[in-house]
This record gives sequence, C-alpha cells and structure tokens, in this order.
Amino acid sequence: MSADSSGLIVQPKVTDETPVIEVSDVRKRFGDQKALDGVSMSVYEGEVVAILGPSGSGKSTLVRCIDQLETIDGGSMRLDGELLGYERLGGHLRPMTPSGKQRQQRRMSMVFQQFNLFPHWTVLRNITEAPVHVHGATPAAARTRALELLERVGLSDKADAYPRHLSGGQQQRVAIVRAVAVDPRILLFDEPTSALDPELVDEVLQTMKQLAHTGRTMVVVTHELEFARNVADRCVFMADGRVVEDRPADAFFDDPQSERLRTFLARSG
Ligand code: ADP
Ligand code: MG
Repeated sequence: MSADSSGLIVQPKVTDETPVIEVSDVRKRFGDQKALDGVSMSVYEGEVVAILGPSGSGKSTLVRCIDQLETIDGGSMRLDGELLGYERLGGHLRPMTPSGKQRQQRRMSMVFQQFNLFPHWTVLRNITEAPVHVHGATPAAARTRALELLERVGLSDKADAYPRHLSGGQQQRVAIVRAVAVDPRILLFDEPTSALDPELVDEVLQTMKQLAHTGRTMVVVTHELEFARNVADRCVFMADGRVVEDRPADAFFDDPQSERLRTFLARSG
C-alpha cells in the first residue's frame, strides 16, 4: 500500500492475486450473541462461492457485513485490496464517512430473499434507477442495458409491468437483473430462492447459473445443495459463527472433513 498526498493510506496495489473480497478474522456480536467469531475467507475474480450452514450460523451476517449493512466489531474486510468501512487516520482505524462507505457499497450488489423491488415502480424503473441516479448513466443507456438484461432472462415483455403483476420467480429474476445492471465487482446473494414456491426455484437458479457462466464474481448463501455442487467453484461451511470448511465444491461434497459437515450434508441431502 502507498500513501496518497494527504497522508491517508488509501490506494492498495491491485494484482491478479488480490482477492475481490478478503475477510480477515471478522467478529460481530449482537448483544451476547457472537454472530461471527473470527471469520476469514477470500473470493477471487470470477469465482462463485457458496456459503452453506445451519440456520443461525452467521451466513446472513457475513454477507451483510461485506455489503456494509452491518458494522464489524473486529478484524477487517477488503474489496480489491481496499479496506472496507474504515480509514486509517494518523495510524488509527476510524469508521469511514457515510459518503466513503456509500462509494464502496456501490461496487457491490446484494440480492435478498424478499426481492425488495419498489412496488410503485415498473420493472424498467426498478432496474434503471440506480444506474441513472447513483452511477451517472444516461437514461437512454440505462434503458438499453436494462432491456438487454431482461431479454437474457426471458422477461423483455415485463419491462412496463409492476412487481405485483409478476410471479415471485419473475420478481426475483428482476431483482437479479437490477443487481447486475450497476455492473458490480461482486454480487452477493442471501438465500435468493428461500421465499419462493418450490416450482419457481429452478427458474431463479437457472438465471444465477447463467450469470456464473458469464464470469461474474458471486457469493451465494444458499440451501440448494445441488446448485452449490454444480455451479459453485468453492463451498464454505459455517457453524456457530465460524468457517468450518472452505474447499472446492467437489471435495466439499464428496469428502467432507468434519463431522459437522457430514451430519449437515446427510440431513440436507
Ligand atoms: P444465518 O443467516 O446463518 O441463519 P444469521 O447471520 O442471520 O444466521 O445469524 C447469526 C446469529 O446472529 C444468530 O444467532 C442470530 O440470531 C443473530 N442475529 C443476527 N442478526 C441479528 C440482529 N439484527 N439482532 C440480534 N441478533 C441477530
Ligand atoms: Mg440467513
């Protein structure tokens, strides 16, 4: 890392080996509850990493910390080598200004379990709002890009529809398009299919698989073991706020190292 002219250390040197996301010994408590108890993991460019684990193991907290929806109590996180949420001032780490934090958040996109589309906006407006008003795209360019992405997921004819006129699966595919439309460094998913009726799960997984194949860097919290096995490059198993296993997908499923993961796979499979 090097110091800029103001003396703040801000510009890391980015190499091919620099992870897109690097989580180091991150701790997060809610009252007495240790949600993350020293979590370390990295995600490299173009990788798809699935995060699995029982309910309450800290999966959502981890992706919410990465997306800076939660502040961490200890450890550090880096995006392309740049410290997330904190800046170093006179040798001390201080929480970053809200505008600095927003600048970092804009480089990531999260897809939630509950879609979170704005109900009073059309599909097209839901998708183009951030590119135009946050990222400075022209309305025409944002529209063209949105229509192109909708076409790819088979929803061109829904551009002018309102979310309530779409099925849950269609709404989630729109939410994914919205997340991709800002061209983020990394896409974060928190159980994107858990709120869907079973017959709508596959269309959303297909959309995610398609994205994975275009080389998107993705972190996916999911209970869909088959998706994790077939689409993820790497799987991370969490329990009690810790990473228990972090291995290539095949090894993860075929040769689990811990009793906890063996039990989890046996119960979920
Ligand atoms: P997972 O997504 O793996 O189910 P979470 O990250 O949601 O797990 O939760 C991890 C732990 O932190 C759980 O014990 C949960 O109850 C607790 N927790 C998460 N969010 C909050 C919160 N906002 N307030 C209090 N406790 C929380
Ligand atoms: Mg969760």
